[in-house]
Amino acid sequence: MRTLLVTGGAGFIGGNFVHLKMQQGVERIINLDKLTYAGNPDTLAGFGDDPRHVFIEGDIGNQALVGHLLREYQVDAVVNFAAESHVDRSIDGPAAFIETNVLGTFSLLDSAKAYWSQLEAGRREAFRFLHVSTDEVYGSLGSSGKFTETTAYAPNSPYSASKAASDHLVRAWHHTYGLPVLTTNCSNNYGPYQFPEKLIPLMIAKALAGEPLPIYGNGGNVRDWLYVEDHCRAIDRVLEAGRPGEVYNIGGDSERTNLEVVDTLCRLLDEALPDSPHRPHSQLKQFVTDRPGHDRRYAIDATKLQTELGWQPAETFESGLARTLAWYLDNQEWTRRVTDGRYRGERLGGQGLG
Ligand code: NAD
Repeated sequence: MRTLLVTGGAGFIGGNFVHLKMQQGVERIINLDKLTYAGNPDTLAGFGDDPRHVFIEGDIGNQALVGHLLREYQVDAVVNFAAESHVDRSIDGPAAFIETNVLGTFSLLDSAKAYWSQLEAGRREAFRFLHVSTDEVYGSLGSSGKFTETTAYAPNSPYSASKAASDHLVRAWHHTYGLPVLTTNCSNNYGPYQFPEKLIPLMIAKALAGEPLPIYGNGGNVRDWLYVEDHCRAIDRVLEAGRPGEVYNIGGDSERTNLEVVDTLCRLLDEALPDSPHRPHSQLKQFVTDRPGHDRRYAIDATKLQTELGWQPAETFESGLARTLAWYLDNQEWTRRVTDGRYRGERLGGQGLG
């Protein structure tokens, strides 16, 4: 792939993807991001004036801008990370989720289709539109079974419903217009550059401050955790070798309850910070009222990706969590600049669980 249009590349997963591609020596990345509260220019600061990384502040729903970028830079593939992504925020204010995840994806698809349909045959054939989505579109599992690519959609939160709608639009743009799309549905990610409203960076930030570690309900909700770099490598693999029109599930085969996640993190913190006045960090745990409609369990069957495209995660949950904690300990200024609002030149309102 020579030139990629990456949307949402100032966010958590998009930012990690941009780092991976820059390390791999990509020819050029056009990084289109609206810089919502979740977009953080600090994540991209290391690229400095590198001409291979072109940052554009803008909305995926702006067809004039997107059309211009596609033509001006002769883009070979679009990778769509741009989204409103936090379930709790979707409960408090779903409108932005419909705006970006549904209408924004529609608009981006239409811009891509207009550009793609005018490419000459060879480049048209090679063009790809990869849509990054979530396992939450499949709803909640009981105590057994896993989501496969053929599991029926049953989204339960405004966030997952908006992502489900976007997945359907992507599918339709392939079946109706022939746009060479790829969709990936991934489980919960963790790793560097994650906004500290999500479980793992939130717990790290609170533990370092000696504040209570809020755990929803009884902590028994199960998520299938994947280290973000493994997710980014999977996306890269699907982009290179996935079959247009296909869906690929991505997961780390690492199911953990929220309580297990927090307990593991507390143990790693105790080991990493032997002189901390907050040891043992597990004493900071505090159970809080559960999220409304909280899905009980997600788990991904990634067999298709593994057998068809040969992808395997490099990290286990324990090794990935240790790497993540090390990153947050080494980059406390990155988190501080988020929590005090300096990353966007203003103070943010309430943090916590959003
Ligand atoms: P994030 O919230 O950290 O980043 C989203 C980025 O999109 C931000 O930089 C934001 O500024 C940008 N953005 C939002 N609206 C935009 C718009 N209208 N136009 C342009 N840019 C816009 O999210 P994330 O956790 O990095 O998730 C990225 C994608 O991966 C999302 O589509 C999400 O649904 C999906 N996903 C996330 C996870 C996870 O665990 N975080 C798991 C599976 C799938």
